Amino acid sequence: MIQLHNVSLAYQNDASALNGITLHIEKGEFVFMTGPSGAGKTTLLRLLYGALTPTRGQVLIDGQNVSRLTSSQIPYLRRSIGVVFQDFKLLPSRTVFENVAITLEVLGWGRADIGKKVMHILRQMGLESKIHLTPQRLSGGEQQRVALARALVNDPKILLADEPTGNLDDVNKNQILNIFKEANIRGTTVVVATHDRRLIENSHKRLVILNKGDIVEQLEKEESLKSV
Ligand code: ADP
Ligand code: ADP
Repeated sequence: MIQLHNVSLAYQNDASALNGITLHIEKGEFVFMTGPSGAGKTTLLRLLYGALTPTRGQVLIDGQNVSRLTSSQIPYLRRSIGVVFQDFKLLPSRTVFENVAITLEVLGWGRADIGKKVMHILRQMGLESKIHLTPQRLSGGEQQRVALARALVNDPKILLADEPTGNLDDVNKNQILNIFKEANIRGTTVVVATHDRRLIENSHKRLVILNKGDIVEQLEKEESLKSV
């Protein structure tokens, strides 16, 4: 599903953020990426959804080389990938419903289908009483769940999340983790970048550890429990 072959990425200031990374993630896997700040986690996620082009090497999604996609093909890639950003990036002047509906509007869904699907996922996320509110009236955990609903409402092949539990308490963290696990059970390949040891320890998933642009360790899901 996701293949990186010797991928390097240098930003314009010459800072090398990734130094020849090779990584394969199978369809249906659930992978945590961790490592200190500056390790390259965000950069790696950006490469996967085509927001950055590798300086060297190849990024393949479903067998397609992301850097060979034309600008008209990139939107098709993005439609199959749900992304949850560190700062949520919700639209402040739109309601919760509208923030989630956007994903399906872009795909050209009809109004009735959008209504059904959006209400279904907002109910799953425990947000049905919040649909008419704008994001600033929500708690951090609720905003994170709206961002997740928006990313997952079209059942993407891949979900990418950057520090999804940043400022959340344990109850909210568990809720978010359960949403990831449920999406994964429904077939979505999940890649989560996080510093959060508790989140990693509680979930027993494959773990990729980055440091200064290199993969320094990989643990299979059985090992990740005891070794972090
Ligand atoms: P992480 O997400 O693991 O904290 P990042 O991918 O954000 O790591 O950053 C990796 C390295 O790339 C860091 O040294 C960071 O300073 C640098 N970097 C990240 N984004 C940019 C950017 N837009 N311009 C220049 N350097 C950047
Ligand atoms: P993370 O917490 O994932 O490491 P950061 O807080 O490092 O993310 O990055 C936040 C924003 O700042 C990103 O848009 C990133 O591209 C940018 N950024 C990070 N490091 C640098 C850098 N050294 N120079 C320029 N922009 C940077």
